[in-house]
Amino acid sequence: MSSSVALRLPSIDGLLRHPACLPLAERYGRESLLASLRQLLDELRSGVLSGQLSAVEISPDVLAGRVGERLAQQQRSNVRRVFNLTGTVLHTNLGRALLPEEAIDAVQMAARYPLNLEFDLASGKRGDRDDLIEGLIRELTGAEAVTVVNNNAAAVLLTLNSLGARKEGIISRGELIEIGGAFRIPDIMARAGVRLHEVGTTNRTHARDYEAAISPRSGLIMRVHASNYSIEGFTARVPTAELAELAHRHGLPLLEDLGSGSLLDLTRWGLPAEPTVRQALLDGADIVTFSGDKLLGGPQAGLIVGRKELIAKIKKNPLKRALRVDKLTLAALEAVLGLYRDPDRLAERLPSLRLLTRPQAEILAQAERLLPALVQVIGEPWNVSAVKALGMIGSGSQPVARLPSAALCLRPQVSKRMRGRCLLNLEAALRALPIPVLGRIDDDALWLDLRQLDDEPAWLAQLPQLQVES
Ligand SMILES: *Cc1c(COP(=O)(O)O)cnc(C)c1O
Repeated sequence: MSSSVALRLPSIDGLLRHPACLPLAERYGRESLLASLRQLLDELRSGVLSGQLSAVEISPDVLAGRVGERLAQQQRSNVRRVFNLTGTVLHTNLGRALLPEEAIDAVQMAARYPLNLEFDLASGKRGDRDDLIEGLIRELTGAEAVTVVNNNAAAVLLTLNSLGARKEGIISRGELIEIGGAFRIPDIMARAGVRLHEVGTTNRTHARDYEAAISPRSGLIMRVHASNYSIEGFTARVPTAELAELAHRHGLPLLEDLGSGSLLDLTRWGLPAEPTVRQALLDGADIVTFSGDKLLGGPQAGLIVGRKELIAKIKKNPLKRALRVDKLTLAALEAVLGLYRDPDRLAERLPSLRLLTRPQAEILAQAERLLPALVQVIGEPWNVSAVKALGMIGSGSQPVARLPSAALCLRPQVSKRMRGRCLLNLEAALRALPIPVLGRIDDDALWLDLRQLDDEPAWLAQLPQLQVES
């Protein structure tokens, strides 16, 4: 019985020559087609043998169709564009900052042609990749020198290891933070070979706490910007200038991990104040570390800026080679930094700043404009409205500050018991669109925050394909 069933499947050779398969071989290559056909036939054979399938249905046309779907699925890239309508602008899970056109052009050039990555064109001698952006960084931050690594976590690790290995790192208990993705200051310190010497308390740390901790074992004082939480109420923190003075009196360097950090004062665009790199250096921090893809609005990178002799020491650490950035990152970073030379036009040219500064009225008008199209496809049991909403900068910048924004708010008109399932179904349907749409569930509703909806035509064009399971 089993052998007679198996015989009903067409042969591989026959299938490869079948007219329905020829275009597939043309499009995906004979090898891929063959592998997919074999896999499909094997699955069908075991399905038929186990009695789950009937062999009668399996014609070459059906097989070609199925193999075609598989090959198309395989070819689709795992890296997919999405619509970030979560309300969080610098969303770590969604790739943080979007690059400006100038940086995209620079990345293309660097990808396509050889370049002077580590080659000094003036002297014809070997160069250093950090030199490509050193001039700009000095100009924009007042730092003496810079080195760039893969991300800010790497910047902190490298700096600690270079300046504090086998010594003690003094840090306030209020700054022993965990950032997303298991980046914890005490763990990083341990991996960097720095012995943690915590001082003060969670809410209050005074200059005398630092002073009392200083001994011949001390290697550095560290300050970490509390980026994803805030301590409010009865609090005390030593200003950077005072801490720097204290550190220098004892011959210790002061490191400041700004996390996001900003090159310019964001309040000029009505955004919440965020410490600037220049101010941290002016206050006396010897080394400042910050991310390239947070408020800076560039590619993923970790920037280490500060005093020349300390940067030189950091660059000599063999770990630097392991953590260095590639040519694409440097090309993008230089282009982004270049835009900062013209602050007046920065909000037009840098996508992250443009999105962060979009006025609420404009976003609300957009929500009202898009509302009818959504109402048309969504049907029962949804109530859809265009409403004001609150978003976030994200990536640890200003954890408590909210950005006044606007959203399409979808509320299921069903019993309380059914609401959760209903919302999850809608969320899944939005994710299943050709360009997945990501919103957020809050207060028994699904919110599509439109602050970041730039490409309205693409969003509208795919809307009719929305299929929500009820
Ligand atoms: C985000 C952040 C980091 C880590 O930076 P990445 O670029 O994500 O590696 C480190 N420290 C602080 C304070 C941060 O906010």
